[in-house]
This record gives sequence, structure tokens and C-alpha cells, in this order.
Amino acid sequence: MSSIEQTLSIIKPDAVERNLDNEIKEIFRNNGFKILKEKKIRIEKSEAEQFYKVHETKPFYNDLCSYLSSGPIVVMVLEKNNSVLDNRELMGATNPKDAAEGTIRKKYGVSIDKNSVHGSDSVENAKIEIDFFFKD
Ligand code: UDP
Ligand code: MG
Repeated sequence: MSSIEQTLSIIKPDAVERNLDNEIKEIFRNNGFKILKEKKIRIEKSEAEQFYKVHETKPFYNDLCSYLSSGPIVVMVLEKNNSVLDNRELMGATNPKDAAEGTIRKKYGVSIDKNSVHGSDSVENAKIEIDFFFKD
């Protein structure tokens, strides 16, 4: 059983900087994702800290938040059946070195921190993350 879901995707600074955003958006569309909303923005470090709050005790938290706020990002609401898990699969493993062939992180990721994309990890977190960026 699967149902129509929305998930939050972010094209991270390393990929936007290399002008990969259109190419990555095309990969989402070719894999059946509808891009319902999108915006290119730059966030403050304090906003990145809020967004990644679940990771606040991790050793990589500070660098991660500096990194996400270091340049423009593209945030999108993606929609399709089973989009949360399907997006995670299309993104590939967190570390591009471990990512499967054909995944976005395998193709574009530079390192575990500069891994080109973010995707929500559950339907519940997707709702929270979509609200974070798109609540008017
Ligand atoms: N990250 C990192 N070092 C690590 C683990 C994670 O820099 O050892 C970064 C990486 O950019 C990752 C983000 O922190 O995408 C969030 O980590 P998470 O475990 O949630 O990975 P994801 O859900 O993005 O695959
Ligand atoms: Mg995560």
C-alpha cells in the first residue's frame, strides 16, 4: 500500500554552486515527482540550527549548520506516491561513497557533508519541514 505523499527536498549549497539545480530537478521529474513548490533562498545559520535541531548533540552539528547557511539553496515540496521513501532511495546513502549507482548523491555528492541534497526521513518530519520553509 502506498499513498500520495509530500516530502521536503533541499538542493544544498555545493550543488547550487555548481549550477546543478536544474539537472537535479529534472531527475526528480523523470522519476515521477511533481515539484509543487520551490524557492531559491539563503538561510541564516540560526535557521539552519533550527532546521537540523534533531542533530544538535552530534559532533558534526555546528559544521553542518554553517554549511547549509553558506550559500543559496533550493527548497522544494515534492509529491508522488510514497514520496518520502522513494526520495530517500533516489538520493542514495548519506555518504556519497556508499550511495548506490544511479542515485543523486552517487552522481553529484562530493563528501559526507557536501552530499548535494536533503530529503525528509518520515511523513511526520516531512510535514514539519514543509511547514518550516513554506508556512505563510
Ligand atoms: N552529516 C555530516 N557528517 C556525518 C553525518 C551527517 O556532515 O557524519 C551531514 C550530512 O550532510 C547529512 C546531514 O548531516 O546529510 C544530516 O545527517 P543525516 O544523518 O540526517 O543524513 P541524511 O538524512 O541527510 O541522509
Ligand atoms: Mg536526515
